[in-house]
Amino acid sequence: MAGNVNEILKKENFTKADIIELLLSRGEEKTLLFKKSAGIKEEYIGNKVWFRGLIEFSNVCGKDCLYCGIRKGNRNLVRYDLSDNEILEAASFAYKNRYGSIALQSGEIESTVSTNRIENLLKRIKDLSKGELGVTLSVGEQTPEVYMKWYEAGAHRYLLRVEATNEELYKKIHPDNPKHSFRRRLDCLKSLQDIGYQTGTGVMIGLPFQSYEDLAGDLLFMKEFNIDMCGMGPYIEHADTPLASHSEKLLPLTDRFDLTLKMIAIIRIMMKDINIVAATALQAIDPVGREKAIKIGANIIMPNITPGRYRDSYKLYNNKPCTDDSAEDCQNCLEARIGLADAEIIYGEWGDTAHYQKRRSGLKLF
Ligand code: SAH
Repeated sequence: MAGNVNEILKKENFTKADIIELLLSRGEEKTLLFKKSAGIKEEYIGNKVWFRGLIEFSNVCGKDCLYCGIRKGNRNLVRYDLSDNEILEAASFAYKNRYGSIALQSGEIESTVSTNRIENLLKRIKDLSKGELGVTLSVGEQTPEVYMKWYEAGAHRYLLRVEATNEELYKKIHPDNPKHSFRRRLDCLKSLQDIGYQTGTGVMIGLPFQSYEDLAGDLLFMKEFNIDMCGMGPYIEHADTPLASHSEKLLPLTDRFDLTLKMIAIIRIMMKDINIVAATALQAIDPVGREKAIKIGANIIMPNITPGRYRDSYKLYNNKPCTDDSAEDCQNCLEARIGLADAEIIYGEWGDTAHYQKRRSGLKLF
């Protein structure tokens, strides 16, 4: 059996069937897969990790995704919105600690007030860091004009997880209305890429109704779309969401964890030089989950630098780790942890990928 995985791992391109076989690998086969992905990371990226300081600046959301703890319909939640000063202070913390870049994340709100506010914050973050701090946005679906405005104000990366690339599955985990359109999510990703953002996407792994074939399709989509960044994590049920009623359909948490590591390993082999996040949700299952992801292919960590008193309210799923830490605690803890994974944190750099640079220079040819 390991012979088969060995043969697959020699291929230049994987078919859907190949990926499914890799996702099902166990024992010796799985070790081969992880060895291969670790080797590719070492060759193309080096044993390095970059930080993106994560500021979860608001849990106010206009959407009602059936899996998400901050969905509009969840009334068991204190809603918060950081002040501009709190956001700028967190950005200054990242800059002073030489994080290289930050990520601003929130629920999904489309309004002129929110668009202008984010534009203004982007400019002020660029000012306070003399243009040095890179900024990733992760604030959901917006019009191309809004994406363009923010790009011009200084955002250069955007994370928009597609969540599931099989439209049937997407429809099972979202309400059936125009606010939760699969097509629009794809259109948004496309316009982000066209504008020039380094574009990141990803999916949740271990969702109810999800098959191995779906997961293989997700990886092929990311390759085909030519993403620059990938953020995938295990699905973890949240008690106050509709999807929690399907818990009996789920794989055990440890299997979802294992499957996520395999997904990370396979995408690293398929897309050798992209940025891959070691998702925080991994740590909700295994205390050293993120470090394990780094060993087998991930190269980005998003330390939470949201002011501590708000963290408890940005609960996307049960058992979210580190909600009572401060930003300083996070930094010390991560340095020790990444050392344990034998990797080195690179400070003071944006950490753009060779992939993005190649893609950009390719674009300029036409
Ligand atoms: N709303 C913003 C980002 C905020 S949520 C956007 O869509 O761009 C960030 C990510 O958390 C989501 O994309 C989703 O993949 C993940 N998430 C939400 N609920 C989750 C759950 N129950 N388990 C695991 N991940 C979850």
